[in-house]
Amino acid sequence: MSASAHNLVLLGAPGSGKGTQSKRLVKTYGIPQISMGDILRQKRSEASTLGKQLDDIMRSGALVPDEVVIDIINDRLQQSDTDGGFILDGFPRTVGQADALDHLLERIGKPITSVVFLDVDETALLDRLTNRRVCENCGHEYNLKFAPPETSGVCDQCGGNLIQRADDNEETIRERQSVFREKTSPLIEYYTRKKTLVRISGDSSLDEVFDLIQKTIG
Ligand code: AMP
Repeated sequence: MSASAHNLVLLGAPGSGKGTQSKRLVKTYGIPQISMGDILRQKRSEASTLGKQLDDIMRSGALVPDEVVIDIINDRLQQSDTDGGFILDGFPRTVGQADALDHLLERIGKPITSVVFLDVDETALLDRLTNRRVCENCGHEYNLKFAPPETSGVCDQCGGNLIQRADDNEETIRERQSVFREKTSPLIEYYTRKKTLVRISGDSSLDEVFDLIQKTIG
């Protein structure tokens, strides 16, 4: 690990901007984004028993079992592209995952440098998520209200088709929010105790939030 490595965890409710801010961090710091949601969506699309199980779980808004995601992160963080830093987006989401991550990172000598908690008002999140559209080709995200594409249904970046995620409907969003409150929010206290948590208000513009993140992580 280089002295200035950024080994980051982005923590926040669904729709708080973890993915968007991670992509900016990738560009600025040249370190990989490890999005557990993206990895699971990829595995879900494979025609396997695991793929089918993941599809059922993710459609409902519940969490995938700890053992599955811990195995994935174990493999991913031992790849050499994470030696100079990494951004964990959407992992950990339970105290069990956080404990497993701590043990792994201690073993491989890549300790977390900051846990960035994007704190956003829950009512704003429902609006953000129901209006979210994603390019099925390049993954670029739009918001029909706040950041719409130039041509309806078409990605500005690559011309791909814009789709709505299967779990971005109101009923599933409410379930994902309740899962966050119950299973993930204890991590705020967990990382506060370890003195690695920085709380950033995620209610401002994308640029302002990114500036704040950069200032806090150095
Ligand atoms: P995301 O793209 O981060 O909103 O994640 C989409 C879905 O993937 C979640 O609602 C969960 O079903 C699953 N998922 C993502 N990350 C995790 C995790 N760390 N632990 C368990 N399930 C996860």
